[in-house]
Amino acid sequence: MLRPTKGKTPRRPAPKKPYNNQKDPVGVYCRVRPLSCDDEECCIEVIHNTTIQLHAPDGLKANRNGEYKETQYSFKKVFGIKTTQMELFEDVSKPLVDDVIHGKNGLLFTYGVTGSGKTYTMTGSAGQGGLLPRSLDMIFNSIGPYQAKRFVFKPDDKNGMEIQNQVDALLERQKRDSQQNVPKTPSSRQRLDPEFADMIRPEEACKADGVDEDSSYSVFVSYIEIYNNYIYDLLEETPVDPLKAKWNSGGTPLRSNTEFIPPQSKILREDQNHNMYVAGCTEVEVKSTDEAFDVFWKGQKKRRIANTQLNRESSRSHSVFIIKLAQAPLDADGDNVLQDKNQVTVSQLCLVDLAGSERTSRTRAEGSRLREAGNINQSLMTLRTCMEVLRENQMCGTNKMVPYRDSKVTHFFKNYFDGEGKVRMIVCVNPKADDYEETLLVMRFAEMTQEVEVARPVDRPICGFAPGRRQRNLAFKDELSRRLEERGGPVDTEIPAALNQLLQSFPPLPPCEISDPSDDQTLPRLIEALERRHRMRQSMIEEYNRTANMLKSMLQDMDGSLMNKENLIHQQQGQLGEKDKCIQDQKSEIDRLEKKAKMLEYKIDILQKTTNIYEEDKRTLQHELESREHRLAREQSEKKRMEARMQGMVYDTKLQWEKECERRVNAKQLEMQNKLWVKDEKLKQLKAIVTESRPENPPARPEKPQRPSREKDRLPAKRSASPSPVPTGAPVRPHHRRSHSAGNERWVDHKPVTNVELDTVMQPNLPNSIKVSTPSEKALSKADKYVLTHQEVASDGEIQTKLIKGEVFKTRSGGQAVQFTDIETLKQENPTAPSRKRRSSENQPPQGDGNMQGGWTDVENRCSVAVEMRAGSNLGPGYQHHGYQKRRKP
Ligand code: ADP
Ligand code: MG
Repeated sequence: MLRPTKGKTPRRPAPKKPYNNQKDPVGVYCRVRPLSCDDEECCIEVIHNTTIQLHAPDGLKANRNGEYKETQYSFKKVFGIKTTQMELFEDVSKPLVDDVIHGKNGLLFTYGVTGSGKTYTMTGSAGQGGLLPRSLDMIFNSIGPYQAKRFVFKPDDKNGMEIQNQVDALLERQKRDSQQNVPKTPSSRQRLDPEFADMIRPEEACKADGVDEDSSYSVFVSYIEIYNNYIYDLLEETPVDPLKAKWNSGGTPLRSNTEFIPPQSKILREDQNHNMYVAGCTEVEVKSTDEAFDVFWKGQKKRRIANTQLNRESSRSHSVFIIKLAQAPLDADGDNVLQDKNQVTVSQLCLVDLAGSERTSRTRAEGSRLREAGNINQSLMTLRTCMEVLRENQMCGTNKMVPYRDSKVTHFFKNYFDGEGKVRMIVCVNPKADDYEETLLVMRFAEMTQEVEVARPVDRPICGFAPGRRQRNLAFKDELSRRLEERGGPVDTEIPAALNQLLQSFPPLPPCEISDPSDDQTLPRLIEALERRHRMRQSMIEEYNRTANMLKSMLQDMDGSLMNKENLIHQQQGQLGEKDKCIQDQKSEIDRLEKKAKMLEYKIDILQKTTNIYEEDKRTLQHELESREHRLAREQSEKKRMEARMQGMVYDTKLQWEKECERRVNAKQLEMQNKLWVKDEKLKQLKAIVTESRPENPPARPEKPQRPSREKDRLPAKRSASPSPVPTGAPVRPHHRRSHSAGNERWVDHKPVTNVELDTVMQPNLPNSIKVSTPSEKALSKADKYVLTHQEVASDGEIQTKLIKGEVFKTRSGGQAVQFTDIETLKQENPTAPSRKRRSSENQPPQGDGNMQGGWTDVENRCSVAVEMRAGSNLGPGYQHHGYQKRRKP
């Protein structure tokens, strides 16, 4: 036995696979097998479809002082004793097979102590097929019709897969057929082991969904055993060469044909995708479940023989059955496999039946067997360690080295844990009390393994060809054979095979060895046989020619129809081109219109914006206009008011000035009259003096120089108002007042023409009076009292009427003089002037003497003032006589 060299493979760059960061935990399932005999003590109870409970056996409980209690363990799923192989397959294996068919890797292993049902679960028995035969069956049920011909896929020796063309594959098939007398169709063979017949009932057959029909598939199986950390290929053909055996007899022990030759161990290698593979391991291409079984049983048999021959403990070996599925897309015609190695997808499902997990002590092994057992235990120990480190790395983010290389088993599966794939483990348990302690260890390992995560495999890329190629190709072939049949030609398309059969059906040639010169039978017999062959050949040639002609005409027909069709296609392509052009034109037109529409939209946008600006301006201007109008109206009304006020003021001022002017004129007049009067008086006195100094001249009444213009305006008031003739210095004879009694005095009622007629209730009533508009000496001489009705506009705008009364005296010179005694004031509101609050005394309610008294007081005061002012020759306002022009008019 050769120890595998522990050479380190140089690190290659990581494969360019799409990186996948999705991970799934290792799926751990538990299968509880039934007890062998019913009266055995049971220490496992399924309490839920995911949980089992372990009860410590009675003996252990007593011994360990309660350390062993009831413990529960949970799994992805627990399968009880009644679970059928089919149910288990459905849950555990089917998804893995599905994955393999879709190009993803899977690993399934059974773990448990010896006798717990690992082999039963994996392989099964007659009528109770395990996961392995069921997986194979499912694969072939799924890919059956899409399998490639044998040798189209050809494994290279680096765990890769090559594609051969049809011819090479055919040649290789013929070569193999000629080398070994292997029956071509597995269905025709006899089953080697009737023990394993009918493992799967037909009704249990299942199939994967979504199989790519446009791919071609091939299944390759390998079967290896790992024993004592050595890998053996269970499918290796033992070189049985009788010559070699004989020739080699000198050096090595002589071996007969049937002699057992110990298998050579194999080494592990890493391929360019970092997948581990057993270098030089046999990969048998199988085309059906039966054929695959056949291969499996052969390996099984070999294993058994080796175990017996080498005195090995079968429970101490790990067996690995590898189902490799190669798939490649069909070419564009859907007829042949695409000749492109890069398009080949290889996926594999490893079904591992691990060695019993029990510790060495339990098996009472001795010597070399003990050492082997130690090694076997060592590999399971390594498996446990690897799981622990992996879990720790994943959970704690550490990067500890996982010791895969410490054992062949772990090294072989390295890529499943490091790379990607789906990993599932079935923990098999026997509920019997004897296994309790070992089962506990199994449970702990199982619990820990569940926490390890494995990268989820990614979907394989899709090739660029149109789907449905295979179906179209089949339809085409069907149609072809139908037409051939119509024309009476050969239906079978496999002409070479038919010819072969035909050749084989020829009668064999008779022996042509002539040993006797007198033999006259051999040659004629040979001639006869050759003639018969010649005839047959002739007829075959005829047949061939007939068929060839038929085929030729058919081909011509087909050519014609093909031409027609091509013409049609050409025509339609032309139409299509026109339509395309039309579409292009319309597209460009649409483009143009779209551009235009966009342009217009843009313009509209701008106009809209401009409109908005203008509207805004308009609003602002309107607003301004309104405010200005408001202001204008306000200003206009203000102006009107001002105008009215100004008019009033102008009017007032005018009136005032008119009054003022009139007053001044009157004052001047009065002054001048006074002066005149003084001169008159002086003249009179002078005249009197002259007259008195000339007694001879009788004193004549001095003629008053009268200027009619002056005389007319002369006011007696002026005389009375004037200072008495005292200033002349001449002594004036005192006059006595004319005697008069109340009621019969005679009044000179002086009313200037400028006076206004007032309709007041209280009018001065003077009976028997001499009414004058201008006082004359004549009138004064006839009366002894004088009253002047004087009107003026008071400061409050009312017409004030004053009755200025005086007494008439005879002057020494015979003239008349008036002395004012009192002034009575009457007030009348001026209708044109703004109304005033103060009314004349008459308008007030009669208040008796008090009011009158007040009035008199006022008059007295004014009189005294008036008299004083007279002395200053300057007239006060009290003596103004004026009338209003406007008043006089109406
Ligand atoms: P292992 O491979 O773990 O050593 P086996 O698969 O050889 O155990 O099983 C030991 C025995 O138990 C076999 O005879 C098998 O038929 C039987 N057995 C195991 N599991 C079951 C089960 N689930 N149902 C019925 N029989 C079982
Ligand atoms: Mg077993």
